[in-house]
Amino acid sequence: MAGASLSTVFVNPPLSLHHSRARAHPKNQWRHAKTTSLSTIRAQSGGRKEDIVIVGAGIAGLATAVSLHRLGLRSLVLEQAESLRTGGTSLTLFKNGWRVLDAIGVGNELRSQFLEIQGMVVNSEDGRELRSFKFKDEDESQEVRAVERRVLLETLANQLPPDSVLFNSKLTNISKSGNGETLLELVDGTQLSAKIVIGCDGIRSPIAKWMGFADPKYVGHCAFRGLGYYPDGQPFDPKVNYIYGRGIRAGCVPVSPTKVYWFVCFNRASPGPKISDPSELKKQAKELVRNWPTNLLNIIDQTPDDTIIRTPLVDRWLWPAISPPASSGRVVLLGDAWHPMTPNLGQGACCALEDAVVLARKLANAVKSRSASVEDALSSYGSERWPRIFPLTIRANLVGSALQWDNPVVCSVRNNVIIPKLVRLGPLLEHTNFDCQPL
Ligand SMILES: Cc1cc2nc3c(=O)[nH]c(=O)nc-3n(C[C@H](O)[C@H](O)[C@H](O)COP(=O)(O)OP(=O)(O)OC[C@H]3O[C@@H](n4cnc5c(N)ncnc54)[C@H](O)[C@@H]3O)c2cc1C
Repeated sequence: MAGASLSTVFVNPPLSLHHSRARAHPKNQWRHAKTTSLSTIRAQSGGRKEDIVIVGAGIAGLATAVSLHRLGLRSLVLEQAESLRTGGTSLTLFKNGWRVLDAIGVGNELRSQFLEIQGMVVNSEDGRELRSFKFKDEDESQEVRAVERRVLLETLANQLPPDSVLFNSKLTNISKSGNGETLLELVDGTQLSAKIVIGCDGIRSPIAKWMGFADPKYVGHCAFRGLGYYPDGQPFDPKVNYIYGRGIRAGCVPVSPTKVYWFVCFNRASPGPKISDPSELKKQAKELVRNWPTNLLNIIDQTPDDTIIRTPLVDRWLWPAISPPASSGRVVLLGDAWHPMTPNLGQGACCALEDAVVLARKLANAVKSRSASVEDALSSYGSERWPRIFPLTIRANLVGSALQWDNPVVCSVRNNVIIPKLVRLGPLLEHTNFDCQPL
């Protein structure tokens, strides 16, 4: 069906912009939202038919659904969990992330809840300051805030009409049907047929696997992360604080007047077994930095159980001619499902947001022109995004390796020469330049 026009792709004309905006979801429904619509699906014999299905209600999936909604296209989001992710920590978003959040109309709502971070300070493990920067000295337009993942997801979901997200809907099987549509089978046996499938199902994406992508590769370090809570107000200046040791680095960023994000990243030959006991996680994180500045230990102590996790860091390098393209027919990947990258540049979520607006624009243009091909629109998204995300994935990996060095001589050169004398923040953050007009 390559080259099929959208008059054949859409059975019904797309919703008008006015209509889709008018039915945004009432606030704060998502924490309690269980699946109400699966029964509806089951009631329809032969499976449900959809125009656009997005798999995964993470940052990429919800940002794509909101972007499409703003452009007048309805989509259905399938999420394996029973609700939006309510625990978790925070993400540092740079100006490219904020440009996208502004373009989709939620920037100011989020800005009002999270502190603007002025700069960063780098210390050695003995508490010596190696370097400090102010973001706006390097780039007046830079904007850095750490945003709680839960709040970001809820804010995006609140832009969508009711029943846009089906929870408890884990995709287990995907296949092509004879008519060019894609068949999706959920874990409970429910079947859906979709004209367009947008895979936003994260690092272990079953859709990426089906498209022939290799599994993401473990890069040799893991990160503890948490969100310290200070009910009477947190004491930190609005700066990113890094501490670089040998084979271990840690950091913290104030998120809001009462919350502070922290991480400890450490070398480990293999990811090891998953640990979910919060007291064990805290104990292990503190053990790694036990002789480091005490304010870090204090933030770890202040961390509620549901906001501490340990994650093995992985990435996937999308080598040209070796890695499959981002789309295959009318199935396309976004965010971590396509380009898992290590968090060393703070760009995974920012790039997932960028993906969402670029894809939504191209798809909506194809729909509106009615003569353009959806396949071409998806393929053009992949071609436009690849030169952006491939070098970033590699750079993030290399930066992480340099920061995880454990050789004492190399670490001494890094801490006494490279960081104090050679590093320039401006070029280091050039990748945050991304232009994005309102949708
Ligand atoms: C330690 C660490 C720190 C980070 N810090 C930053 C940072 O500071 N700034 C930044 O920009 N990025 C950061 N990132 C990266 C960021 O978290 C990811 O890039 C981002 O979450 C990707 O969003 P996503 O929507 O693609 O995937 P996810 O957030 O993983 O969402 C995927 C969704 O798909 C669902 N799903 C999965 N499989 C299925 C299935 N079979 N059926 C249905 N649903 C499914 C999942 O439940 C989930 O809701 C960090 C990552 C790590 C590991």
